[in-house]
Amino acid sequence: MVETFDLVIIGGGPAGYVGAIRAAQLGLKTALVEKRTTLGGTCLNVGCIPSKAMLQSSHHFEVAKNEFSNHGIITKGLKIDLPAMLRRKNQVVSDLTKGIDFLIKKNKVAHFFGEGKLITKNKIEVQAVEESQPSNALSAKNILIATGSRVTPLPGIEIDEKFIVSSTGALALDRVPKKMVVVGAGVIGLELGSVWRRLGSEVVVVEYLDGILPGMDQEISNSMLRILKKQGLKFRLGTKVNKAKINKNRAVLNTMNLKNNEEEDIVCDIALIAVGRSPFTDGLGLHDIGVNVDKSGFIEVDEKFNTSVNGIFAVGDVIGGAMLAHKAEEEASVCVEMIAGQSGHINYDSIPGIVYTHPEVASVGKTEDELKRAGVKFNIGKFPFTANSRARCNSDSDGFVKIIAEDITDDIIGCHIIGPSAGDLIQEIVVAMELSASAEDIARICHGHPGLPEAIKEAALGVEGRAVHI
Ligand SMILES: Cc1cc2nc3c(=O)[nH]c(=O)nc-3n(C[C@H](O)[C@H](O)[C@H](O)COP(=O)(O)OP(=O)(O)OC[C@H]3O[C@@H](n4cnc5c(N)ncnc54)[C@H](O)[C@@H]3O)c2cc1C
Repeated sequence: MVETFDLVIIGGGPAGYVGAIRAAQLGLKTALVEKRTTLGGTCLNVGCIPSKAMLQSSHHFEVAKNEFSNHGIITKGLKIDLPAMLRRKNQVVSDLTKGIDFLIKKNKVAHFFGEGKLITKNKIEVQAVEESQPSNALSAKNILIATGSRVTPLPGIEIDEKFIVSSTGALALDRVPKKMVVVGAGVIGLELGSVWRRLGSEVVVVEYLDGILPGMDQEISNSMLRILKKQGLKFRLGTKVNKAKINKNRAVLNTMNLKNNEEEDIVCDIALIAVGRSPFTDGLGLHDIGVNVDKSGFIEVDEKFNTSVNGIFAVGDVIGGAMLAHKAEEEASVCVEMIAGQSGHINYDSIPGIVYTHPEVASVGKTEDELKRAGVKFNIGKFPFTANSRARCNSDSDGFVKIIAEDITDDIIGCHIIGPSAGDLIQEIVVAMELSASAEDIARICHGHPGLPEAIKEAALGVEGRAVHI
């Protein structure tokens, strides 16, 4: 007999599993369909979590190598045990994905292992991906598509995950490459480029645009470029990768400088292609039942996450926007609450974006350029970490906090940080923006001393030109 659910969710990533838990909390009979053997999607299996585990390990190595002696700590014979580092990363992933399994069971969500396909607007077929697994047919009052994204390929370049790798391959290299070329100076390229540079690779980042971290505040991206160069990353900006081949177990990338059209072959042990991610909807049968996608393949939804077919919803990476785990989670919760009859809303202006390099980069709200283009008048307060006592104690003072406040109301409309723990610091501003706080509100809050958050307070004071410690 076909089992009927109030909600069937296809895809067990941050959008899917969070949506499933929220639906169960709201009393909906819920099923979650995932074709991977583990839950957690891109984020837990091959994205946020393994990359942050490797960033942490490689950061420890770099600090031990370059900074311990300044603290009077002498290390001898420091070296990398890469298999142990990878084992730790895998263990973190395994522990966390098991944790999601536990939560799904605890919330009594029915978990189906297999590939979901839409047959009608109320019927889903779950096709077995392993022979030992049964196929299932499910009936649903509502369907939520949360099938996420995959690596965007670069025309003319075949990713073999051996010499030319995606982020997934770059998180599992079994040796430290002597030379690595990273194609794409976005978040993933810079994070993984940083990992392998710290572990000893010569890393060259090739980027089509003239700057790094596209979409970020220009001042932040310029400063970060300087910092990363100082750390040893090399950059070829305004450079196109035409094609690639493998020669004698090395990748050869044919590149072209877009200013003078000069071509150059760059030879490396590993080439990482990190030019973005695209929606994943293969095998879902969207076209057959009339779910519309846009020209880039993202599923089209309205403000309530309804697709073009009534009763079928979509959230997360598969609908585009900021391709971030926390954005996917929020969309899923809000969508499910609306399915359950509640109201919901997401303030896309207060979703933070974080780059987990060292120092970190964190950003929320509008950039200076966006505001200038929109003709909005604003004031800026800035404070460098060199003037923050905690950052000085930690010998970790690259970067600054930049707060942008609207001219008349003093409402905070943007904040951009380069600095230690920027990804944690930005959260104060996210809360402030959600509560419509002004820069003065933050400036008048007592911040613990000595603490990195004091740099936020000082930048807020700086909006009125009255920062104290500079
Ligand atoms: C290297 C890397 C680092 C990243 N770091 C960060 C970070 O630090 N912070 C951050 O916020 N974001 C980060 N991201 C992005 C983040 O991983 C995604 O934004 C997030 O995973 C999107 O969640 P999702 O649920 O929409 O999709 P996904 O996580 O992609 O999950 C979709 C799931 O659906 C499954 N699926 C697809 N089709 C079917 C089907 N037909 N039937 C059954 N199952 C199906 C897939 O197997 C997958 O498990 C990173 C991504 C990468 C690649």
